[in-house]
Amino acid sequence: MTDFPDRLLAGYRNFMSGRYSDERERYRVLADKGQKPHTLLIACCDSRAAPETIFDCGPGEMFVVRNVANMVPRYEPDGQFHGTSAAIEYAVQVLEIDNIVVMGHGRCGGIQAALDPSMKPLSPGDFIGKWMGLVRPAAEQIQNNDLMTQAERQTALERVSIRNSIANLQTFPFVRKHDEEGKLGIHGAWFDISTGELWIMDSKGDFVRPNLDEPPIEAEQISA
Ligand SMILES: [Zn+2]
Repeated sequence: MTDFPDRLLAGYRNFMSGRYSDERERYRVLADKGQKPHTLLIACCDSRAAPETIFDCGPGEMFVVRNVANMVPRYEPDGQFHGTSAAIEYAVQVLEIDNIVVMGHGRCGGIQAALDPSMKPLSPGDFIGKWMGLVRPAAEQIQNNDLMTQAERQTALERVSIRNSIANLQTFPFVRKHDEEGKLGIHGAWFDISTGELWIMDSKGDFVRPNLDEPPIEAEQISA
């Protein structure tokens, strides 16, 4: 076995002397009282689109599930291994989170693979190929659109996929119930890693820039 990565140990040292030291009390309260995050955030595994960094959230604020291309499958109670569905189930049923946000991002490798018909399985399991099958019908339509450049097709599928995931969220009976009871807000967002721009989905499914002219809210106020 190789040594634990130095970079991670150095980062952990900084965490203990910095953030943990500053937020020791908050961690203690969270340990004693349990977590009560306000948001379930479904994001991509991409190392450039970390939700806690983008939304400046502290410990206990967001319940985060990350998978390749930030996708939500349909509700399938078939006895198989559904990691993302398990996280959704826990967040809605036990934590009773107030919001679900599906956040996609620019230059997503998973979406790029879905748009590439020459993509060969990376291993005999072809796990990515199977997983990206969740957006295959949309990918095929967009892939065949000759009026768009490849970059436009990529952004289009990144955003269509977010809408697809939100539609799939509504197939979970407990999500639909909380939504209908007004206990849950369901949102889409798309983060442009090259510019830092965040686009949020409006009620028609279009992506628009949020109004950030409001004075910034302190993190403590957000979590209160
Ligand atoms: Zn991605």
